[in-house]
Amino acid sequence: MEQITKSAINERAVNIAARIMQAAGLCRFDNPMKCRKTWPTSPWECTECIKRWLLGKAKKELELKQEAKRQ
Ligand SMILES: [Zn+2]
Repeated sequence: MEQITKSAINERAVNIAARIMQAAGLCRFDNPMKCRKTWPTSPWECTECIKRWLLGKAKKELELKQEAKRQ
């Protein structure tokens, strides 16, 4: 049986969140045309942009936490 690692679960969680957010019509940009230009994949969908959005937010949050610890 394949081992279930914490990072694999986290990755799956991000994928699921991106799918749910895309289904809700969410996008990283206020204008979907901006998104389409940024990720010119075919067929175009927002799961990728939302995934990057979530990962970017997570990274920023961790960086802020580290900064708070240093002070
Ligand atoms: Zn998008």
